[in-house]
Amino acid sequence: MSTKRIYMDHTAGMPVDPRVIEATLPYMNTFFGNPSSLHSFGQEPRKAMEEARAKVAELINAERKESIIFTSGATESNNLAIKGYANRNRTRGTHIITSSIEHMSVLNPVKYLSTHGFKTTFLPVDQYGFVSLENLEKELTDETILVSIMYANGEIGTIQPIKEISQIVHRKKAVLHVDATAAAGQVPIDVQAEGIDMLTISSNDMYGPKGVGALYFKKGVVVEPLIHGGGQELGLRSGTENVPSIVGFGKAAELAKTEMQTESERLTRLRDRFIKGLVGAVPYSFLNGHPTKRLPNNVAVRYSFIEGESMLLSLDMLGIAASSGSACTAKTLEPSHVLRAIGLKHEEAHGSLLFTLGKQNTEEEVDYVVSVMPDIVKRLRSMSPLTPKELKE
Ligand code: PMP
Repeated sequence: MSTKRIYMDHTAGMPVDPRVIEATLPYMNTFFGNPSSLHSFGQEPRKAMEEARAKVAELINAERKESIIFTSGATESNNLAIKGYANRNRTRGTHIITSSIEHMSVLNPVKYLSTHGFKTTFLPVDQYGFVSLENLEKELTDETILVSIMYANGEIGTIQPIKEISQIVHRKKAVLHVDATAAAGQVPIDVQAEGIDMLTISSNDMYGPKGVGALYFKKGVVVEPLIHGGGQELGLRSGTENVPSIVGFGKAAELAKTEMQTESERLTRLRDRFIKGLVGAVPYSFLNGHPTKRLPNNVAVRYSFIEGESMLLSLDMLGIAASSGSACTAKTLEPSHVLRAIGLKHEEAHGSLLFTLGKQNTEEEVDYVVSVMPDIVKRLRSMSPLTPKELKE
């Protein structure tokens, strides 16, 4: 085992920024009151929570802080947006459109609705992961009430043309929900300029605490709550709020807003150096996703004839943490639905490796990983029955 520790799996989980931790601590003990309480102990947490709401609203240029509802994370926000909107608006129509490369927390609520009276369409994507705008236009009908398309895909990095998508959706009087979990904090998002009606974001994907997220609603967009109770969060998400984590999320959003541009430029340089190094050094290696319209931290590659899991274990022995695809489906042996949807065959999808970079990664780390990959691939290919003879020599 190596003593080196190189973490390059930031899409699965991020360290919490020390400044965020510091901001949350007073709300664990000093200001422990319930924000709904009328007495003075409730005032400080309530004020801090509303400040956090304003900071999250600012990050995505929401028109007002009341457009933000705090949830337990991206999965809940996606469920609330999709099931909540469909259930509240079913008298207007019963057709929902999404793409085939969404996260399971979008795909599964849509599939659930298909067993509860809704018609559903899963749009295909091209080799880079882009939804075809013509296809979207063709599938929209007078019955379509909701379209859910992700801002960017965490597995292949591809960033969708959200503004164009929203214009098409709005021409048909439907509403656009965008899962921006992988994108928020990496690239600027402007819900007003881009015409987004509902937007999902998550705290841990921008160096905030896990287990807290948000859903943005444009004024006039109404949903049915999933969780009923004491009526917190405008009655849309009952339950005593997770104040320390919400405060941390607010701090993380504030830091993302001020530091994103410099950090994303740094990451883009690292990303491109990394991709060039990996794909340039080994024959039969390829980039997954689009070369430029991709998240600054996303390096997704695939190597023919070998398995992502074997590469992961070899990297882990050297202290390097990467992923073979989405962490949420890593336990199943099925190849990722995203990689299949961009047209990869089973065996091609299985040879994929995903590095997602973060604030602490350096050029030296990138160069080190680039330097160890050729030997790992060569050794695994020498043992694989799929490798052509000439590559084994
Ligand atoms: N949407 C996307 C695009 C994701 O990448 C993820 C996982 N980070 C989620 C939703 C679900 O996030 P969580 O598990 O934090 O609810």
